[in-house]
Amino acid sequence: MSIQLYNTLTKTKEPFKPLEEGKVKIYLCGPTVYDLLHIGNFRGAIFFNLLRNWMEFSGLNVTFAYNYTDVDDKIIKKANEEGVESSVISERFIEEFEKDFNRLGLRKHDYNPKVTEFMPQIIKFVEDLITNGKAYVIDGEVFYSIDSFEGYGKLSGKKLDELEAGQRVEVDQRKKNPFDFVLWKPSKAGEPSWDSPWGGGRPGWHIECSAMIQALLGDTIDIHGGGIDLIFPHHENEIAQGEGRTGKCYCNTWVHNEFINLSDEKMSKSLGNVITGRSFMDKWHPEILKYLFLSVHYRSQLAINDDKIRGAISALARIYSSLKNAGDVLNFEGGGVVNKAFAQTLSQHDAKIKKYMDDDFNTGEVMASVFEVVRGFNALNLQKKAKDINSKPTAEAFLAWMKKYGDLMALFGQVPSKFLLELDDILIADRKLDRAKIEELVAKRNEAREAKDWAAADQFRDELSAMGIELQDGNPDRQWSVSKG
Ligand code: AMP
Ligand code: ZN
Repeated sequence: MSIQLYNTLTKTKEPFKPLEEGKVKIYLCGPTVYDLLHIGNFRGAIFFNLLRNWMEFSGLNVTFAYNYTDVDDKIIKKANEEGVESSVISERFIEEFEKDFNRLGLRKHDYNPKVTEFMPQIIKFVEDLITNGKAYVIDGEVFYSIDSFEGYGKLSGKKLDELEAGQRVEVDQRKKNPFDFVLWKPSKAGEPSWDSPWGGGRPGWHIECSAMIQALLGDTIDIHGGGIDLIFPHHENEIAQGEGRTGKCYCNTWVHNEFINLSDEKMSKSLGNVITGRSFMDKWHPEILKYLFLSVHYRSQLAINDDKIRGAISALARIYSSLKNAGDVLNFEGGGVVNKAFAQTLSQHDAKIKKYMDDDFNTGEVMASVFEVVRGFNALNLQKKAKDINSKPTAEAFLAWMKKYGDLMALFGQVPSKFLLELDDILIADRKLDRAKIEELVAKRNEAREAKDWAAADQFRDELSAMGIELQDGNPDRQWSVSKG
């Protein structure tokens, strides 16, 4: 096995070596559950689904935890606005998140820990840090002392003196260092509160992840992920906590995905420029979102716009048309063997895809390979070769190959004929076309053809073509489709 992963900690691509032979422990920072997630929030989940699948495909046994942050200022604020307990808000949005997640067809994680279920472990963790001289208590509040941890800054590359020079906000004078961060804080009236040795309170954000990681996966994990905005301070602080507690390495490889942008700006709720996963999937399709995300490298920014979405639709239409044709070929008599040259194409691209996936998940190149295989299959034109006993086994080999890589990426698993019709509906809505008008023109053209009025038939065809409608003469299933560029 020779998977190379870019590690934010060392800023290099490194051969991935599990701590324990054959086993991988992965933790990905999950959502704060106070609202629907935007599509950017799903980039990590979609990419890590592939990372996990590829590791398993490569023979590793993966344990994967993805948490829900269900204690947070934003949850409390929303709960107060609605006059309900904060658990009402968090449970509601966990449920909504799970609807989106299932619609994306991603695999379930081994663990989905919630902060509220780990209070004893969080409190014990904070106690251990105090015992180790890494944390101090002031008025019922516990702070991590970053000066006590020599490695502080090693993930983000930030130096303490530089941090202080750039510090503009008013600092809490009680802190030993302005960058000391909160591990435990007293709850205000109306906030959820848990008993602790420091009085009723609630945990800071960073300690949650460290406590859940060490409780579920152990002192050291293989891979920790999140978006690049989490490198500092969240993940830097997680290292300080984890290593400050055990004295051991907290995580070997840090994997961060770049941002999804909208009009060249990071998609974020605070900037107000978001597309929720829900609205994207309602207007377009989960398959389109996954294709868009996986067709670029996870460490590249991706700006979403209508042109890119339409490009993804056209790419998916090409792939699914081939899958549909291959499905039709399965009805032929079989008995032969896979076309020799095509079998070679498949195995060449097996080797290429392995190289690309192993190279820090170069999914753009993986997609290019998929297209070459699709092109190779189309060139065989098997749907016209019903008499050839090799047609069926060749189509079967193509479908099995596409399923192998499709399953890894959570793509290409739709029923082709149905999905192609769905794409038509999506494009009809997008281009504001009138379905009744299209059907009327198609019917008129059929009548003209029956009456052998070729000039009129051509005129209707041209009219349809101007609307972006392609006639599908000779297709027994459908008479027309929307042109997909
Ligand atoms: P949050 O709920 O804000 O903590 O974000 C959940 C996850 O989404 C984190 O891993 C963030 O880094 C990630 N994230 C937030 N905004 C974006 C974005 N525009 N593009 C990609 N990832 C993002
Ligand atoms: Zn986290």
